[in-house]
Amino acid sequence: MQDCLFCKIIKGEIKSKKVFENESVFAFEDINPTAPIHILVVPKKHFASLNEMTPEDKDIVGEIFLAAKNIAKEKNIDKSGYRTVFNTGPDAGQAIYHIHLHLLGGRKFSWPAG
Ligand code: 5GP
Ligand code: ZN
Repeated sequence: MQDCLFCKIIKGEIKSKKVFENESVFAFEDINPTAPIHILVVPKKHFASLNEMTPEDKDIVGEIFLAAKNIAKEKNIDKSGYRTVFNTGPDAGQAIYHIHLHLLGGRKFSWPAG
């Protein structure tokens, strides 16, 4: 999508610190990390949010989570633990409308979420 920040990051038009890439998924460091490890995992195909996902997209949802799992292992937070979050819509504080899975680790997180 033309005016989407994360589409531009995926295409390399805007710089990012890439962590992982395959055919369908791109992962990069969050510019404003809220944990020692804060990585965003995004599909290369543009979806505004989880609300746009359909049954045809179930493979890409799986790809996103599998990439997060592999990155967590590479970053050595698989045993200590980590949080994976899709923020969807205003109440969840979604700011960028290209779906992204937050992979957060390296510290303890409280629950329930604030
Ligand atoms: P949301 O609030 O939509 O779930 O999360 C958006 C995330 O994108 C935020 O954590 C924010 O720090 C991150 N972000 C916003 N703009 C940029 C950017 O230009 N580059 C990178 N790497 N992350 C960004
Ligand atoms: Zn996009």
